[in-house]
Amino acid sequence: MKIVAIANQKGGVAKTTTAINLAASLAEVGRRVLVMDMDPQGNASTGFGISPEQRTQTIYDLLLGDADVTSVIVATQTEGVSIVPSTTELSSSDVQLYNVNKRSYLLKDALASKGLAEKAFDFVLIDCPPSLNLLTVNALVAADSVLIPLQSEFFALEGLSQLMLTIREIRQTANPALRVEGVLLTMHDQRNNLSQQVERDARETLGELVYQTVIPRNVRLSEAPSFAVPALTYDPLSKGAMAYRAFAAEFLKNNSNRNREA
Ligand code: ADP
Ligand code: MG
Repeated sequence: MKIVAIANQKGGVAKTTTAINLAASLAEVGRRVLVMDMDPQGNASTGFGISPEQRTQTIYDLLLGDADVTSVIVATQTEGVSIVPSTTELSSSDVQLYNVNKRSYLLKDALASKGLAEKAFDFVLIDCPPSLNLLTVNALVAADSVLIPLQSEFFALEGLSQLMLTIREIRQTANPALRVEGVLLTMHDQRNNLSQQVERDARETLGELVYQTVIPRNVRLSEAPSFAVPALTYDPLSKGAMAYRAFAAEFLKNNSNRNREA
């Protein structure tokens, strides 16, 4: 079971869109995926059509140690994808958890549950909130790697250095094995000079960390959540869905290469 945090402290860069559609793409090729909704806004939960009644127990109970992870997992309509949902309750947890001992290790400890191992998920994708708060720190401490969506727009790389600094700090303290999984360029517009410039800069600065696959701007990706399904279900042959399938293939290929190296 590999744990991947999808993080970027900037909002609106496609963290949640990537969590939902990468999960669906991996499931389509037979992988079992658990999405952890770590954002109090609960966009990943809504995007998978999880109703309020299905959110009686959430990631909040999990972090507070009031529930075992296996009892907060909800199946989605997408075969092979389950989710630990979130609610706005989670936003107060930052304050409450502040006094808890080992407060950065709450998610890591929760994911170490024996019951979870028995569920045999191949991947856990953590959809992080748009800040470097305690919730994101919990995700980075629990994760094997960080996947960074980068919106193809000006200042995109500036925000990245702050995230890289946080990753380095976590590596030096709570999670020495934390790796950068890769950087995914999102909302790319091939005809736009700025998009092209951001791509050039990112590839020059970050080299192999940047995925070959680029996610184009595609309205189907933004429409799908209002139908409570991934774009892969909403419009399976849309450019957005096809791009996420291609990305999932590259993601899996990188992972199998690394396993061979290890
Ligand atoms: P984050 O989770 O980083 O805040 P979201 O995944 O919620 O970002 O994306 C922000 C907004 O942009 C959402 O309305 C989403 O539907 C839209 N969006 C994301 N990726 C794309 C894309 N490739 N093309 C068009 N719209 C997109
Ligand atoms: Mg989000």
